[in-house]
Amino acid sequence: MENNLNIYNTLTRSKEKFEPHTPPHVGMYVCGPTVYGDAHLGHARASISFDIVFRYLKYIGYKVRYVSNITDVGHLENDADEGEDKIAKKARLEQLEPMEIVHHFTNRYYENMNMLNIERPSIEPRASGHIPEQLEMVQEIFKNGFAYESNGSVYFDVKKYNEKHNYGKLSGRKIEDLLETTRQLEGQSEKRNSFDFALWKKADTRHIMRWKSEWSDGFPGWHLECSAMGMKYLGKKFDIHGGGLDLQFPHHECEIAQSVAANGEEAVKYWMHNNLITIDGKKMSKSLNNFITLYDMFSGENNLLEKAYSPMTIRFFILQAHYRSPLDFSNEALKAAEKGYAKLMTGIKTLNKLEATGDSDFDVKDFAKKCFKALDDDFNTPILIANLFDGIKHINSIAAGKEKIEANDLFLLQNLYNDLALTVLGLQKEEESKEDSKVLDNVIDLLLNIRLDAKKNKDFATSDKIRNQLTEMGVIVKDKKDGFEWEIK
Ligand code: ZN
Repeated sequence: MENNLNIYNTLTRSKEKFEPHTPPHVGMYVCGPTVYGDAHLGHARASISFDIVFRYLKYIGYKVRYVSNITDVGHLENDADEGEDKIAKKARLEQLEPMEIVHHFTNRYYENMNMLNIERPSIEPRASGHIPEQLEMVQEIFKNGFAYESNGSVYFDVKKYNEKHNYGKLSGRKIEDLLETTRQLEGQSEKRNSFDFALWKKADTRHIMRWKSEWSDGFPGWHLECSAMGMKYLGKKFDIHGGGLDLQFPHHECEIAQSVAANGEEAVKYWMHNNLITIDGKKMSKSLNNFITLYDMFSGENNLLEKAYSPMTIRFFILQAHYRSPLDFSNEALKAAEKGYAKLMTGIKTLNKLEATGDSDFDVKDFAKKCFKALDDDFNTPILIANLFDGIKHINSIAAGKEKIEANDLFLLQNLYNDLALTVLGLQKEEESKEDSKVLDNVIDLLLNIRLDAKKNKDFATSDKIRNQLTEMGVIVKDKKDGFEWEIK
């Protein structure tokens, strides 16, 4: 397929022309959540970023097999190989079965994703459902000499791997530096080197989630599931692997090492990482007490929030930044996003009601090209949105009778907005809350009463300004003998 799409490949640190090599499907794998708590803004950013990739690739004609996992076992507390399993710990504290925790938070995660209008991936496999595949991969790595057993657990031998291959190539880390920064852990560990990572962990007596293996009753290491499930559903080589920037090291670095050690070659052609969300400039974390879940966002029930924000406001807020740029949360930014989203949706509503009026006053084909160019340039949603706002100026002028548009151009423009804003950006109309619409009614009445007063005082400049600007916003005003009537077009 001919296309101009360029993707930034984290592995080569450059933009590359997208040339998939796994027809008929483009294979895409994105690391999903560890389900021991509710999803937060960080989850929303990752899922929305790759939802755009999924939607746009399909829109320009690719078949996409999108796999995103659910981690339900093996992710230990400190993201390394020590400490308690996050899900097992939550289960212990809540006095529930681990699978009750998994089921509960997986359902809530999907509910959040549906609210954000995330298209569900093609396959959503779970780590605990793929133990044989993971064990098979450990055996391969062991057989090829890149793993060792220690006290019933199996670890990946990073030093040995690095003699033949390059550990750290994705994140730009050097094994010598890792040796220095992690030296203090040595001596107390069953690992040969502190940067080695677990492929299989022997379960201690407290650990309920355990499976039999030739080494011990245990469970797989966290990094292994993505390599094993990616290979199972997308093959030994696939196109795109995505995830949050926080997963680049060590998680994705370990994934590369596992695939090379087991199969002799790398699995992934393009690595894509979305940047993180900060809150008032600080990293979001439970210890800093600035943790906002998506349910908090939608209900407004969190001390950091001045009000509730709708799912589409959150979606629009995230799309206003490029996925590789940092994004800072603040109430001001969210309120601005709320207005921006409303302006775009009102613009589309106005556009869909327009009628052709004559030769077009602006170049619609050129405008369409600009919109696609933005998406082709590494999914640049903020540039696309800026273009869509530029177009709304014309739409409002046409609605106000100040500009003209020809029938074919109008058809193209209507399709363009509906396709890009709704199908690709995944925005959807949200019902205004009753409270919001009551406030809006009162504000419009207030403005029109000021206009009546201005007319009485023969201040026609003010009176015309109010009517014209309301018209541009899609509020149609009709003067009556005893006052006015208005409707939103
Ligand atoms: Zn992963």
